[in-house]
Amino acid sequence: MHELSMAQGIFTTVMDTAEANDATEVTKVIIEVGRLAMINPEQISFLLDVLKENTIAENAEFVINEIPVEIECQECDYKGIVSLDGLDHYAPIIKCPKCETPRILILNGKDIIVKNIVIEKPDEDE
Ligand SMILES: [Zn+2]
Repeated sequence: MHELSMAQGIFTTVMDTAEANDATEVTKVIIEVGRLAMINPEQISFLLDVLKENTIAENAEFVINEIPVEIECQECDYKGIVSLDGLDHYAPIIKCPKCETPRILILNGKDIIVKNIVIEKPDEDE
């Protein structure tokens, strides 16, 4: 299951980072998911809630932001956001919105990124 391995990968990243920073608790995690990452954010969110049980991230809030697809056209000079509305979410054919060629480079929107992790540390000034 695609989403499960993705969620496990995200969670491992969070835990490794927390450990490397001597965290006592993870309070918030911001995740960016590209529209072309081919995953269901709701499923990721559900799986993370399961994975975090009995860990220092137990009370963490996982925020998943979907980020848009950005392209650079190889035919014209268009560079920017492409709307995927109305396209098949799981097999979209991306075209330049200006000249409609499919000869484009995808700059952004394919990846899943752990953007920010908020942690608690021991003996910090309150
Ligand atoms: Zn174009």
